[in-house]
Amino acid sequence: MSQMHSCTATAAALLAGPELPPIAFDNSFARELEGLYVPWQPAPVPDPRLLWFNDALAAELGLDAAALCGARGAALFGGNAVPAGAAPLAQAYAGHQFGGFSPQLGDGRALLLGEVIDRHGQRRDVAFKGSGRTPFARGGDGKAALGPVLREALLGEAMHVLGVPTTRALAVVATGEPVRRERALPGAVLTRVAASHLRVGSLEFFAARGQIQELTRLAEYALARHDPELAGRADRWLAWLHAVTGRQARLVAQWMNLGFIHGVMNTDNMTLSGETIDYGPCAFLEAYDPATVFSSIDHGGRYGFGNQPRIARWNLARLAEALLPLLVQEGPEAGTDRATAAAIERAQAVLEGFDAMFEAAHRAGQRAKLGLSGAQAQDGELADDWLDLLLQQQVDFTLAWRRLADAALGNTGPLRALFAAPVALEAWLARWHTRCAAEPTTAAARAAAMRRASPWLIPRNHRVEEALAAAVDRDDLAPFLRLLSALQQPFDERPTDADLAEPAAPELTAHYRTFCGT
Ligand code: AMP
Ligand code: MG
Repeated sequence: MSQMHSCTATAAALLAGPELPPIAFDNSFARELEGLYVPWQPAPVPDPRLLWFNDALAAELGLDAAALCGARGAALFGGNAVPAGAAPLAQAYAGHQFGGFSPQLGDGRALLLGEVIDRHGQRRDVAFKGSGRTPFARGGDGKAALGPVLREALLGEAMHVLGVPTTRALAVVATGEPVRRERALPGAVLTRVAASHLRVGSLEFFAARGQIQELTRLAEYALARHDPELAGRADRWLAWLHAVTGRQARLVAQWMNLGFIHGVMNTDNMTLSGETIDYGPCAFLEAYDPATVFSSIDHGGRYGFGNQPRIARWNLARLAEALLPLLVQEGPEAGTDRATAAAIERAQAVLEGFDAMFEAAHRAGQRAKLGLSGAQAQDGELADDWLDLLLQQQVDFTLAWRRLADAALGNTGPLRALFAAPVALEAWLARWHTRCAAEPTTAAARAAAMRRASPWLIPRNHRVEEALAAAVDRDDLAPFLRLLSALQQPFDERPTDADLAEPAAPELTAHYRTFCGT
């Protein structure tokens, strides 16, 4: 991970000529899915400045980080100089937003630049966000403001380090152009890297139009890209629905065990790859409460913390509906009157499996956080009762788990200090100690394992806001860089970063609101 000043583009490199350093693009989407997208160019920006470049991710992608810094990086990642081999395009997608269907969303302000094969042999999308209007822009200006762009970079890196599948930021360029929101804000372009940008809504787009040929091409592409082992199987669509369902169940289980609230789980913001995407109104829990909602537009609390598993399953039902024309063709009843009914039944059985997959992943994560290596029947109840205690006493979710690791070593003081009425904790702690006694591990090993399962540092909402405000209002990136750097080691307690780990004052959190990153 690096900052601007670690960029080492030399004067010689800059003088070498106007050619941009090569990025070994291999654009399968553009090549294989012609007709399903709109080729489009990024809008030039007046004064691009490379504010941040992700050296570590660049290395993973096999890019020449040194040569992509400075003025060249600014020109490239600002959209002024499209690199050789790129085939910029806008993707079409639809989506269920807050439960209602929007038949046409699409990349209104984003462009897929192309794909690269990373050091691990994985195909990764390199895309812009905020690179100007496209034919999908509807009323939007096609731009992005610096605050939301930095937010997405910060949150994506934090989630990545925490082990959560996620899209990541490669570069942030300030455009030198104001964007009009409630007030004029500095504009920026985000370069985003993803396993792909294919969403549940990508398939919904063609399914809703009855374009079955296009739907099939896109689904075959997505399956081959994310689940190549299923390609060619006679029952591949059902198996694929199962695979995507499992990824989402595991992803949301990770969110739940970290206290992450996505905030806008529309089907256009749910990937087929299983990566977290679109860090708009997301936020982390402070005091544990499943009813927590931070998003200013989520009036009904549809995307509140505790609803996330249910919403993921609902979204997957929309995926199943989009895939129905394909599911109908592959069953033993294909071609008969019963084909549709049978396909729906099979899809429903897969969707019903979501709960068990989620539960298994969620409980496994909780056991790790409780310091349990084995599984016993009553572990779920132990975890539920712990969460009930946190809820009753409005205890900070992150710190509570962390202080429980201290308690594993007999140091219960810091944990008790988080509770207004710690006496309520006694009975539960006794049960937990009894349960731990049935484990083969030592207390020291248990505490160490617990500290690897529960971060000390998360992107605290008020610290994120402070960092973004400094960048936006004072052109001061130092707080952003400090927070980003601290978040690289979320599991190690460091006195020097203690201010970043503390929760906000409860009044602040009670009034905290997040906004979609437009
Ligand atoms: P999001 O809320 O970022 O998930 O975006 C939802 C839809 O709105 C997508 O189709 C975006 O491309 C589009 N959109 C959001 N902001 C803008 C903007 N400023 N200009 C054009 N399209 C936008
Ligand atoms: Mg989106």
